[in-house]
Amino acid sequence: MSSPAFSQALHVLQQVFGYPAFRGLQAEIIANAIDGHDALVLMPTGGGKSLCYQIPAIVRQQQGRGLTVVVSPLIALMHDQVRALQQVGVAAQCLHSALDFAQAQSVLAQARSGQLTLLYAAPERVTSAPFQDFLAALYQRGQLALFAIDEAHCVSQWGHDFRPEYRQLALLHERFPQVPRLALTATADAVTREDIIERLQLQQAQCYVSSFDRPNICYHVVEKSDARRQLLRFIEDEHEGDAGIVYCQSRKKVEETAEWLVQNGIDALPYHAGLPADERQRHQDRFLREEGLVMTATIAFGMGIDKPDVRFVAHLDMPKNIEGYYQETGRAGRDGLPADAWMAYGLADVVNQRRMIDDPQSPASEAHRQVMRAKLDALLAMAETTECRRVHLLAYFGEHSEPCGNCDNCLFPPETWDATEAARKLLSCIWRVQQKSGIAFGAGHLIDILRGKPTPKVEQHGHAQLSTFGIGADLGERQWSTLIRQLVARDAIVADAASFNTLRLGPAAKAVLAGTQPIRLRVASEKPARGNGSLRRATPSTSSARDAQLVQLDAAARQRLQSLKAWRAEV
Ligand code: ADP
Ligand code: MG
Ligand code: ZN
Repeated sequence: MSSPAFSQALHVLQQVFGYPAFRGLQAEIIANAIDGHDALVLMPTGGGKSLCYQIPAIVRQQQGRGLTVVVSPLIALMHDQVRALQQVGVAAQCLHSALDFAQAQSVLAQARSGQLTLLYAAPERVTSAPFQDFLAALYQRGQLALFAIDEAHCVSQWGHDFRPEYRQLALLHERFPQVPRLALTATADAVTREDIIERLQLQQAQCYVSSFDRPNICYHVVEKSDARRQLLRFIEDEHEGDAGIVYCQSRKKVEETAEWLVQNGIDALPYHAGLPADERQRHQDRFLREEGLVMTATIAFGMGIDKPDVRFVAHLDMPKNIEGYYQETGRAGRDGLPADAWMAYGLADVVNQRRMIDDPQSPASEAHRQVMRAKLDALLAMAETTECRRVHLLAYFGEHSEPCGNCDNCLFPPETWDATEAARKLLSCIWRVQQKSGIAFGAGHLIDILRGKPTPKVEQHGHAQLSTFGIGADLGERQWSTLIRQLVARDAIVADAASFNTLRLGPAAKAVLAGTQPIRLRVASEKPARGNGSLRRATPSTSSARDAQLVQLDAAARQRLQSLKAWRAEV
């Protein structure tokens, strides 16, 4: 590439930031922004998104175009960036709620008089009336160079971290149509990408997609039996003394898990939005500063945490979709050294997530629920797959890859068996029980019937007389519960959380009963699975190998995007 924009950009990269060369798509993204076009940038965490707007900001300032405004959701994020910029001599400031009136006025005055190159602010500030007036004055003088919208997935309700204050950002296009905008995020599937472009009204936006692969992260998913104990075993076996993050769904579980880990000799701290601000800050600081601390946290913890040597991210509960899973696991191994993403997952996770989506109390529309269900199903499929997890994960983001050799399924190919016939037995058992008793029962009772166990409950309901009594004695309890979980994941069984997780036939039961949908399961041992087991690791790729993997959104992915858009228009 040899456009004037490119040589200016390279000059700034080397002279100001002291780096010899651009990484991956940076050069193209930067040149495109310098030339004044909108763009959506997807690059994994640590990929180098900041330079993608910082260099255009500097170049456009030099061209006399004025100020670049960076929208960023967290004060901590802004601070880090501003400090780093100031250190290399770039005039940058941030506006946030911790500044008093005089300080804020002083920052604004600097910006007004053309002394600033970059101004960072939170979305609610940027869209506030006074700030809009301030921007309008600059705009009239041709002194607004660029808008950069960091963590842009927050604008989409399909993303995993929707922030309503991002919604107002469409204002920027309406009020300042001549100012180019750059939206950046580390995670967005096809639906979310489309949504970002639409919500922000990006114009003829180029979409730059880097490879989502994090080759040094080894993915594994274990079947939940006693999750906490499995976690402890995993940490003790694989990560003694390492820094790690353990994600739990509820605040209560965060606290209990931290306590329990500490009791078992692991240095752990809790973090969730319900803790007092100073305590949260203290825990976060300790996590960043010390080595080998484990943070048990809700998803409130993580955005903007730039700790390079997090050696593992564990999920005790399943996230709500692949984007969330990818974002959270992406916090491991930012230094490029081997790291683990570990998740324990079971029937209760599936039921829980489904229940939250279907919750009649929630204001979500049916179309919204449908998208959420599809997104959850994609994660379930990833958790259940007997093939390479990375292939699965990357395919979700529109990327084709070969089996990785560095995930549990690649390292220890699971044995599988044809569970189609067993699935039919199970479904007919559910149906017969309900026919006979008029009510639904839970998994344990159904398994007793299938395995022909004459428990008091079986006797009491006369279920020993059913034709399905004992037809599944050939399989163990764990195999049956795995099958139940898979069928719930596939919607062939619906678990009613409101009545003790009783099981009924779901909309997809017909296809399974008809035998038109073959089902393969991994062979479950009757003993609970190991916490993890030692995994041989592949050598992580070097960063240059990773750069070589940077890809642009190819034609096939574009097509998929189109069909998704059409599908969304329908729902
Ligand atoms: P992201 O926002 O995508 O998570 P950052 O912008 O914070 O990533 O960049 C991550 C790290 O990579 C930073 O330390 C940054 O200085 C470094 N970096 C970015 N681009 C380059 C480059 N072209 N050459 C060398 N280092 C780079
Ligand atoms: Mg960033
Ligand atoms: Zn693999």
